[in-house]
Amino acid sequence: MSSRQSMTKKRYNRQCRACMEADETPNHVLLQCRGVAEQRAAYLGSPLPSLPEAHGDLGGLLSFWSELGWLE
Ligand SMILES: [Zn+2]
Repeated sequence: MSSRQSMTKKRYNRQCRACMEADETPNHVLLQCRGVAEQRAAYLGSPLPSLPEAHGDLGGLLSFWSELGWLE
């Protein structure tokens, strides 16, 4: 790939703004992202919750997203 191609080729998947290591999908941010582990621990009770754990606490879930300020 030439340098010209790499400059014009855009990535449509948004890179996670917290860790820059993965695509910023809801499940990544909610369950896996290391960049927001502290917020997950604070609002969801675990830095690496399972999906049922994360979804089981709706209040914590909403607080978590609102703390991040990523809701658009
Ligand atoms: Zn991430």
